[in-house]
Amino acid sequence: MLGQMMTMPLVISSLIDHAARYHGDTEIVSVETIGGIVRTNWCTVAADSRRLASALKKSGVSDGGRCATIAWNNYRHLEIYFGVSGGGMVCHTINPRLFPEQMIYIVNHAEDEVLFFDRTFLPLVAKLKDQFKPVKAYILLGPRDEEAAATIPGLQFFDDFVATGDADYQWPELDELTASSLCYTSGTTGNPKGVLYSHRSTLLHTFAVCVPDALNLSARDCVLPVVPMFHVNAWGVPYAAAMVGTKLVLPGPGLDGDSLVKLIEAENVTVAAGVPTIWQGLLNSAQKSGAKLESLQRTAVGGSACPPSTIKAFRERHGVETIHAWGMSETSPIGTANALLNKHRTLPEDEQHRLRLSQGRPLFGVELRISGDDGKELPEDGVAQGDLAIRGHWVVDSYFKQDKGTAKSGKWFMTGDVATIDPDGYMVIKDRSKDIIKSGGEWISSVELEGIAIGHPDLADAAVIGAKHEKWDERPVLVAVKAADKNPDPAELISFYEGKVAKWQIPDAVVFTDVIPRNATGKILKNRLRELYGNVLMEKG
Ligand code: AMP
Repeated sequence: MLGQMMTMPLVISSLIDHAARYHGDTEIVSVETIGGIVRTNWCTVAADSRRLASALKKSGVSDGGRCATIAWNNYRHLEIYFGVSGGGMVCHTINPRLFPEQMIYIVNHAEDEVLFFDRTFLPLVAKLKDQFKPVKAYILLGPRDEEAAATIPGLQFFDDFVATGDADYQWPELDELTASSLCYTSGTTGNPKGVLYSHRSTLLHTFAVCVPDALNLSARDCVLPVVPMFHVNAWGVPYAAAMVGTKLVLPGPGLDGDSLVKLIEAENVTVAAGVPTIWQGLLNSAQKSGAKLESLQRTAVGGSACPPSTIKAFRERHGVETIHAWGMSETSPIGTANALLNKHRTLPEDEQHRLRLSQGRPLFGVELRISGDDGKELPEDGVAQGDLAIRGHWVVDSYFKQDKGTAKSGKWFMTGDVATIDPDGYMVIKDRSKDIIKSGGEWISSVELEGIAIGHPDLADAAVIGAKHEKWDERPVLVAVKAADKNPDPAELISFYEGKVAKWQIPDAVVFTDVIPRNATGKILKNRLRELYGNVLMEKG
């Protein structure tokens, strides 16, 4: 042998050990479900994670056993992330906004042995508990609470439970391919599907999201993951924060604009991550109160397309750079992030703005391609739109408890998104393939039309669907929610599109509604809107 390098398993326990040893006194600020703020640090979180792992093993949880959470972003949830995975069990985060039937399906399908939950969800858990067949232990995230104890017989309390664990517990030596966490996708049809992440996939994703052209995280940052810890591991932010030793601010249940503005200013947050609707709330609140958000440097936005007006407002009003990112539960989730290249530095502001609207370029570790109906690869010219496929170190191969790989056409995972990719690799999501509007053989991006409508000052929310049309098969219809005290004229809303998109892409009609229906992860329920408004153009004749 000529000599070789060491191999050490890429495991989640090494992240928390590193954070404890080299960033031990860096603060973790946690807004509590019952009110108030707890200040802890990486050292204490690491010690409690070990104790938690020990307590779980003592209580009989099996190796690889699933431990579910229904919880907000708070420090106990963070300790579960590291304690459960570090201890060789699987951290299964459940989205509390799922329908009860979906939750029952998921808990049984995952065979969850333990269920941790926040006080908010006590009534929900009490109601569904008899149908959560595999769960042997219910643990409330908090100190002992007599009222809760009376609601669920045998209920345990996190703080007491952790205290039963050993402080000198040693992490097990795990193979890096061991499963670490589990998330179910909340599609709009069919049963949710589980994506089982490994220690290795999580660690590689963590390296990738920290780099400067992704979230650009360092020990000088203070990170606020507004994206819930029940949504694809909060985009990997908790792991990334441990890797680089950032201060972490966990916002608890209060995700309204006013609460977030206060938290950002009080804690000097430098980076925040969340879905577009969250940022609209925050920007409105800051505008009303005159808050400057001076500490904030970057916001990572993903989950849905970020409206151009949001990117502009952050930049022009607050000097905040938006990192537009794309991903899915199946991709851990971050696949692409938007950052400009050296050659773009001297471009005029409006050209830079146009580039920033894209969902960005692939992080090292994943590859993208687009293909047409015949499966053949399409050119990356920024014009051809096709089915987007991805492969890489943190992309799902097969869903939980499904033997066969999901990757079709070789080793690629078909995302279900339609996209363009330009010669520099900038990818633009046009639509979900089932939502793209097919008008007389041409495709119209509902995502782009929605992004424009959101920028109209008299609208609070908007969606665009393909409505049936006698001549063109489908035509776009804008479903709009009026802003408070505003009464926009439909004709004026239509003319708002002029000069922003080609004439034939402008919606044919506007319908007003009180609320845009969304699924548990905030995605617009286009099926529902098509049921409601898919015939409005036919009825008109
Ligand atoms: P989920 O698995 O629930 O995270 O949903 C993944 C889907 O969200 C993707 O397939 C996209 O359709 C959509 N999505 C995520 N990020 C973006 C983005 N930045 N722009 C547009 N759509 C996005």
